[in-house]
Amino acid sequence: MTRLTDDRLTDDRLAHLRRELERLRSELDTELKRMTGSLDDVRDARGDASADDEHDPEGPTLSSEWSRIAGVTAELQARSTAIDGALERFERGTYGTCIRCGLPIDAGRLDARPFAELCITCARRG
Ligand SMILES: [Zn+2]
Repeated sequence: MTRLTDDRLTDDRLAHLRRELERLRSELDTELKRMTGSLDDVRDARGDASADDEHDPEGPTLSSEWSRIAGVTAELQARSTAIDGALERFERGTYGTCIRCGLPIDAGRLDARPFAELCITCARRG
């Protein structure tokens, strides 16, 4: 009995992955806007009067909230860059190919991480 292998990137599969990337892309944009808005809120809440955190009881709380949001934002931005890169590789027709060794990236890996730019071997190598 023949069976289609799961690790082949068919056109259907590529189209699906591309849609998935575009969906992730717009989700991320929304999320990033929300986080940027939160950063502005924290900035506003801190205000000029509380520039000296040590004498402001609310200072430390706002600071930790700030670093939390800044951390999440940085993570989202990194993912956003990865997604942009993947969409760019679609444009160039190199999507699904490891950017380091040039071998095909396992389709199962792309299902889990559509923005993966390294094959599993290179990713493990770090
Ligand atoms: Zn590789």
